[in-house]
Amino acid sequence: MADTSDTDDGGHFLQAVNETFDRAARLSDHPHGLLRQIRACNNTLSVSFPLERDDGSVEVIQGWRAQHSNHKTPVKGGVRFAPTVSGDEVRALAALMSYKCAITDVPFGGAKGGVLLDGTRYSQDERERITRRYAFELAQKDYLGPAVDVPAPDYGTGPREMAWILDTYRTLRPDELNGAACVTGKPIAHGGVRGRLEATGLGVCFGLREACSVGEDMESLGLETGLEGKSVVVQGLGNVGYHAARHLRSEGARIVGIAEHDGAIVDESGEGFDVAAVRERMDAGGSVTDHPGATVLEESRKALELDCDILIPAALEAQITGENVDRLRASIVAEAANGPVTAEADAALRDRDVLVVPDLYLNAGGVTASYFEWVKNLTHLRFGRMEKRFQEASARRMMDAVEGLTERTFAPEARARAAEGADEEDLVRSGLEETLVPAYRELRETAREHDTDLRTAGFLMAIDKIATIYRDRGIFP
Ligand code: NAD
Repeated sequence: MADTSDTDDGGHFLQAVNETFDRAARLSDHPHGLLRQIRACNNTLSVSFPLERDDGSVEVIQGWRAQHSNHKTPVKGGVRFAPTVSGDEVRALAALMSYKCAITDVPFGGAKGGVLLDGTRYSQDERERITRRYAFELAQKDYLGPAVDVPAPDYGTGPREMAWILDTYRTLRPDELNGAACVTGKPIAHGGVRGRLEATGLGVCFGLREACSVGEDMESLGLETGLEGKSVVVQGLGNVGYHAARHLRSEGARIVGIAEHDGAIVDESGEGFDVAAVRERMDAGGSVTDHPGATVLEESRKALELDCDILIPAALEAQITGENVDRLRASIVAEAANGPVTAEADAALRDRDVLVVPDLYLNAGGVTASYFEWVKNLTHLRFGRMEKRFQEASARRMMDAVEGLTERTFAPEARARAAEGADEEDLVRSGLEETLVPAYRELRETAREHDTDLRTAGFLMAIDKIATIYRDRGIFP
């Protein structure tokens, strides 16, 4: 059997991540040894295990977990189930996680896991056996635990898989008081945090709102400031793509194209799709192409070439390549997926002054909300539980005082709205915004200071932050 640990695609992805790192490192003045340490992947675990299929046959399943950087612990990163996973791919994704956590000040090192499988070929029971065995392998080798390594959902996995990982961990370590913090992205009933499911997509929306609010940048692209009225094409209406599209629509953007694995749809009306309705049909077992009134593109990839203001690849890596980049017509490419633009295409987009909002910043909302979930699990306390009622009572007292002074009364609706204390979802959303808004400003400032693009600037910010930690520990001069 072919060794799938270093497939061409995964290798190219890792090479592209490292090349960007090198480009950013040349703009820094850190010593060579320190830069090499930051760039290196610390550990990769490779596992193979048997799966008994529902029909009694046995298959060998391959998986990986890469821990890129232990400069902060635990390390953190999603687990993906996909037919394209390889050792190099998870190493590339783990490196991105380290840089992503650094630029958003999320206190984790980077990691990533993957299992090589085509999810559509396996029953739910088989997927459960695969997930549990993968979690068992990680736990046995000390690659899973609240203080060590904390997985989360990624492509092809979601809350259900995270609940299986937690349950497996609890079986192995029943006395671990903080066991729930061994994995994030869990269902709420298993210690998940409200708002985690939508967090990556909502973060994409916050990031794009910031990018589109910079008048100077929009003017140079020939666009108006703000999201209102912007035309958007989304590739991949999964967790990230769906929530990003939903929030962008609520901010006034028009979702004019949606690409899925089995076809794409284009909205000719100019109104934009009701993405919730599109997704509902898909969830009920239909195809994106079933949406009434939509123009269908049989070749899904062609949607990337549609005329639009913002193109959001939100599926897998290497979607915008040397082959199709010249046909792209978007002014802004928003990397909701990890690594959707190859190095060659990235260089072409830079030459054309297309604004690329890079993955390591734009999809960091997921790990940010995962950080909140981890904190919630360690404190054993739901966010908002202590202060919600107190805030409500304070707001009511304040309004009573104002009414007493002015002899005017608040309308009942306004009074009810103003007296609403923050619940967990409000606080998670607020924490996300507070993380992503300043991070964009810092990213843009760094890019301007060094006369470079946002991706290189993001790597440079990450290098500086990680270097400071090593230096503060006295490991490097
Ligand atoms: P998902 O599995 O929920 O959704 C992926 C969607 O893409 C699916 O609907 C799938 O059918 C579709 N798709 C697959 N191949 C396609 C193709 N060739 N063309 C169009 N659509 C295609 O995955 P997700 O969690 O949304 O992750 C998507 C991307 O976002 C990945 O790159 C992942 O690493 C990244 N990401 C995810 C998170 C997270 O919190 N889930 C966080 C950060 C980054």
